Amino acid sequence: MQSPDQPVLRDIVLIGGGHSHVGVLKTFGMRPVPGVRLTVICRESRTPYSGMLPGYVAGHYSFDEVHIDLRRLAHFAGARFFRDEAIGLDRDARKVLCADRPPVSYDLLSINIGSTPGMNDVVGAAEFAVPVKPISAFNERWVQLRNRVRERAGATRIAVVGGGAGGVELALAMQYRLRNDLKSTGRDPDELVVHLLSAGPDILPTHNARVRRAFSRVLAERGIKVHRGSQVTEVAPGRLRVADGSTLDADDIVWVTRASGAPWLRATGLELDDDGFIRVTGTLQTVTDANVFAAGDIASMVGRPLEKAGVFAVRQGRPLAGNLRRAVQGQPLANYRPQQRWLALISTGDQYAVASRGALGFQGRWVWRWKDWIDRRFMARYSELPAMPAAPRAQPPSIQLGDDEAAQAISAIAMRCGGCGAKVGASVLGRALGGLRPIERDDVLIGLHAPDDAAVVRVPPGKAVVHSVDFFRAFIDDPYVFGMVAANHALGDLFAMGAEAQSAAAIVTVPPGLDAKVEDDLRQMMSGAIAVLNEAGCALIGGHTGEGRELALGFAVNGLVDEDLAQVMRKGGMRAGDVLVLTKPIGTGTLFAAHARQLARGAWIDAALETMCQSNRLAARCLFDHGATACTDLTGFGLLGHLVEMTRPSGVDAELDLTALPVLDGAEECSTAGVVSSLQPANVRLRRAIRNQAEVHRHPRYPLVFDPQTAGGLLASIPADRAAACVEALRALGYAQASAIGRVLPQGDALAPIILNAG
Ligand SMILES: Cc1cc2nc3c(=O)[nH]c(=O)nc-3n(C[C@H](O)[C@H](O)[C@H](O)COP(=O)(O)OP(=O)(O)OC[C@H]3O[C@@H](n4cnc5c(N)ncnc54)[C@H](O)[C@@H]3O)c2cc1C
Repeated sequence: MQSPDQPVLRDIVLIGGGHSHVGVLKTFGMRPVPGVRLTVICRESRTPYSGMLPGYVAGHYSFDEVHIDLRRLAHFAGARFFRDEAIGLDRDARKVLCADRPPVSYDLLSINIGSTPGMNDVVGAAEFAVPVKPISAFNERWVQLRNRVRERAGATRIAVVGGGAGGVELALAMQYRLRNDLKSTGRDPDELVVHLLSAGPDILPTHNARVRRAFSRVLAERGIKVHRGSQVTEVAPGRLRVADGSTLDADDIVWVTRASGAPWLRATGLELDDDGFIRVTGTLQTVTDANVFAAGDIASMVGRPLEKAGVFAVRQGRPLAGNLRRAVQGQPLANYRPQQRWLALISTGDQYAVASRGALGFQGRWVWRWKDWIDRRFMARYSELPAMPAAPRAQPPSIQLGDDEAAQAISAIAMRCGGCGAKVGASVLGRALGGLRPIERDDVLIGLHAPDDAAVVRVPPGKAVVHSVDFFRAFIDDPYVFGMVAANHALGDLFAMGAEAQSAAAIVTVPPGLDAKVEDDLRQMMSGAIAVLNEAGCALIGGHTGEGRELALGFAVNGLVDEDLAQVMRKGGMRAGDVLVLTKPIGTGTLFAAHARQLARGAWIDAALETMCQSNRLAARCLFDHGATACTDLTGFGLLGHLVEMTRPSGVDAELDLTALPVLDGAEECSTAGVVSSLQPANVRLRRAIRNQAEVHRHPRYPLVFDPQTAGGLLASIPADRAAACVEALRALGYAQASAIGRVLPQGDALAPIILNAG
């Protein structure tokens, strides 16, 4: 792990979470290079392990068993995880262009993005066939295919196009699983007919004759119809056309042919081979650019073509890590020497496998068990992560720096030790914020577009201003997403009051470091914030940026409401008989506490971040339109704390249904395991507000009512006759887990105003 006291001197960016990059992350996690920051950009936070994919398709493994939790692994490695898609490179500026964020800067870059199905050469394939590649997206397509087979009455014909190891293995695995699916619903498994089409004269062209014979026998015994020498030339709905002019009817067509490189690589200027894969040397550096590396399927080694197999991608992880480490320290690189022969363990779907190595071939149930053991051991390396000792304070960097950079690094270390609060230099700030485009509003008379000592905004006639401020430390390592959440969190106060967001001033803290790195962090973070502010119609009108130990961001926000306060939703105002409606699930506090301790699954964090980035703007309008009598946004005090803040001024009591609470995936597991936010103990002091605490304190959801929220949802009281329509309208607006969670009761004699209903 990197020490937080160590300024970042160099950035290594990894595009794709393929088999080689998981190895790089593990290696750097075990032995970091002081001053070097890793960043992974990947479309998904769970990356599949190809070796177990056929076993998953056959039903022998669960989804989790065959996926590496990349977000968690990155956290272990002290690497930043950016869930995004790379769509290009600006190699002159050393930046990765991404689909959903500003360009990400690198000093060294590595690409491990697998391959893309080569479907464009065949008419209709892209429209009407199901590609296996990218394997990361295969699961969704496979689940849909299974559903189609189950729902189709009568026979189903499936054509698997591609006679290599992938196609053969997949055809057998799919047949095994789909037959079991049919059997389990009482249908005749023979309703399923599987065809395998191979363009060449035989299947498994890269394997020896013994292995080919073994699979020919298995395929024949299993009734899979093999079409050799059948190059598919056209795909139409329900039909394939083959080069000899014949056709084959098929309800589903699965494409497992030779793949190609991602199209976006063509514009990068990197030299590619005929199939669009990046040409690399023995050091895994691209032949075009020594600062760009590539590994796995996407790499094409000059003079040593390798099969597109996960086994090579895995093997390249260690030499790639070694060379990235050497390159960043200015040391000579070492050549990767691929093995001449390699062992392929190819399964037949029914817990039987064939081993192939050079001219050797053997088979049996024991080969499957052996493969299973190897694969599980591989996965354990990435799921059972060792607890690493706390990072030592700043270590001497082993990076060669220019004079200017060295001076910046020394001053950054000195400042960090002092905790500092100095202003960030004007030139750094200017460059970082220069490209940002906050919206302009007519009522902002002096703002960022004509900067001055302070901003001047007009309050339109008949309007009053609503003010609020929020500020917090980065709780995730992705500055862009953090910026979005921080802005959303701050705007939540305005929306909870029913206000229109007008303007915001930012207060920013960035850790000192090399100017270029500080600039990058600022740009990413403020771009995320501005995306949210702009979407809310809120103009960024100014701010202040200082240096401090940790990245932090807050906003002073202004909103507008009618002067007569008719639109203002207050905390007081609840009426007995109202229904309590909550717009978003709770659980962010416990989930991010677990994330910090590597106990949360990446998918839980993905889902939590998604809700935290969802604006409360539309929800507030919807609650208002449904006659909300009171409203607040859920933040640090948690559900109970904020509810008590509403019942007190309203002079009412309230009842919450614990079972009706919308809860984020994983939140119950984490809080039950005792993993709570550092704010939780302070919130728990309010338990005296719960009238029936003794009855409910063992309920698994009990701790969650104290869980502090970041950018949480809105809690409102809605007249009972409109509550169901309100929840329905909220869901239609995209608040998928909006729920009625309790009732407002007349104030009783008891001191404690809240009843938790566990029934
Ligand atoms: C059905 C089937 C079975 C197979 N079985 C085996 C087997 O048993 N053994 C074997 O050795 N090989 C097997 N293979 C081959 C194997 O799948 C590939 O060789 C292997 O997945 C390549 O690994 P990789 O690390 O290069 O890329 P991948 O494993 O494909 O990983 C690429 C990663 O990059 C991400 N990514 C892609 N593009 C971008 C982008 N633009 N921006 C950000 N992220 C991106 C993806 O989401 C993914 O996480 C099989 C293939 C198939 C089709």
